[in-house]
Amino acid sequence: MNSPAPPAATKTLHTLTLGNRFATLPAAFYTVLQPTPLPAPYLVARSPAAAALLDLDVAATSEQEFIDTFTGNRLLPGSQPLAAVYSGHQFGVWAGQLGDGRAILLGDAADRQQQRWEIQLKGSGLTPYSRMGDGRAVLRSSIREFLCSEAMAALGIPTSRALCITGSDQHIMRETPETTAVVTRLAPSFIRFGSFEHWYYNDRAEQLQILADFVLAHYFPDLRQQANPYQALLAEVTRRTAELIAQWQAVGFMHGVMNTDNMSILGLTIDYGPYGFMEAYDEQHICNHTDRQGRYSYRMQPTIGHWNCHALGQALLPLIGSVAETQAALATYEPAFQRKWDALLHRKFGLQSTQEQDQDLFQRYFALLQESHADFTLSFRQLSHLGNQPSAQDEALRDLFIDRTALDLWLENYRQRLASENSDEQQRQQGMLSSNPKYVLRNYLAQIAIEKAQNKDFSEIEKLLRILERPYDEQPEYAAYANLPPDWAGQLEVSCSS
Ligand code: AMP
Ligand code: MG
Repeated sequence: MNSPAPPAATKTLHTLTLGNRFATLPAAFYTVLQPTPLPAPYLVARSPAAAALLDLDVAATSEQEFIDTFTGNRLLPGSQPLAAVYSGHQFGVWAGQLGDGRAILLGDAADRQQQRWEIQLKGSGLTPYSRMGDGRAVLRSSIREFLCSEAMAALGIPTSRALCITGSDQHIMRETPETTAVVTRLAPSFIRFGSFEHWYYNDRAEQLQILADFVLAHYFPDLRQQANPYQALLAEVTRRTAELIAQWQAVGFMHGVMNTDNMSILGLTIDYGPYGFMEAYDEQHICNHTDRQGRYSYRMQPTIGHWNCHALGQALLPLIGSVAETQAALATYEPAFQRKWDALLHRKFGLQSTQEQDQDLFQRYFALLQESHADFTLSFRQLSHLGNQPSAQDEALRDLFIDRTALDLWLENYRQRLASENSDEQQRQQGMLSSNPKYVLRNYLAQIAIEKAQNKDFSEIEKLLRILERPYDEQPEYAAYANLPPDWAGQLEVSCSS
């Protein structure tokens, strides 16, 4: 699936003039401040696809200027740096005021379609919202955020993007001393559920309304025509969130910290921390080592998405006007999730039509995955290669399961189901291969890139980025990157430390 080459970019760092729509909000919404420079920064990685979003001609840009700009050592023309305030529920508990503790919004730039992209530096120094933190991010977590943002975009899942990582030899303290880095992130907006909760819990009805009107005007202008625009806003964010989480579930993505301050008002995946992709399938899998209770386990994600929408609904209640209207908007979550999840499963299993027994067929497959702890990505990829008739080729799939008899029975039912809609083998396989990725960002792959980068070899990040930009393509030369994780990967633990 080679997409046509994008038109040549036209801007350099001198002509990429920034606006800042967020800065048109009243001063209470943010603090104007400068990034804190880092000594002797260097380039760690860059995403050409993200640069294209800004229409930025990287080749025509001096590398030193690029590095200085996206470390925060040099300002872009028109840049009005600021850190935004927000609050949130963390692990189900009201946490009070949070905010951009280590992120600084430089401003926004228009792409060729006149869509504006906010440019944010993450790890660029202390802000009034840093609380106990140092305003910095370590190289390790910056690489994880960079790679996953771009990988998710290539999977077709709504997400913030990552332009680049710059690094510095300045050390910061985590469990051990580590070097610091800055990730430049892009999104149409970084406004969170917690941005609304902030004003609601501080009893600032006027600010709440200003924020809602700002979001409606810039991101959902059509909703202003609705009888109750605030209810329509809640319903739209609820739908987007439900659909986003269905998409996460369909590729086995686990966010790890679905606190309301990490939930995007645009329904994007944001704030990559201790995320993970499901490998040995276990619906109870918890990817975040800090999440002892499993609040954000794979199985819980859809429920927590709903819970988070409720938290947003609570905050919007004064604007919506009645509990009944708020609840009506929130009630759209489950049907929206089911509709999307069902559609994604039909694509994953290569079914064109919908039949009554499909849910049962899907559930039985997940039960087999669970029982065998079969690799989520590999199993769906092998299933995509399956022929309509049994053959020796079935072995590649059978190898992933322990109870082969149960799998064989399921395969027999699956093939009957395919026959019932006269499924065309080639067409089905093609469709399945474009919805069941071969390559996902397995933790161990990120870890290898991180360890090399910690020794100043950044080549593996670039290589991974290239592979993950085409997750559905076979790329036989990189087949090893689709393999089961090695034994040592079982020891990897990812926590909130970043
Ligand atoms: P998270 O759950 O990682 O998105 O972070 C929760 C809150 O802590 C946000 O307000 C962050 O800005 C803040 N935070 C996390 N790490 C740091 C840090 N090293 N310095 C300052 N603030 C931080
Ligand atoms: Mg966050």
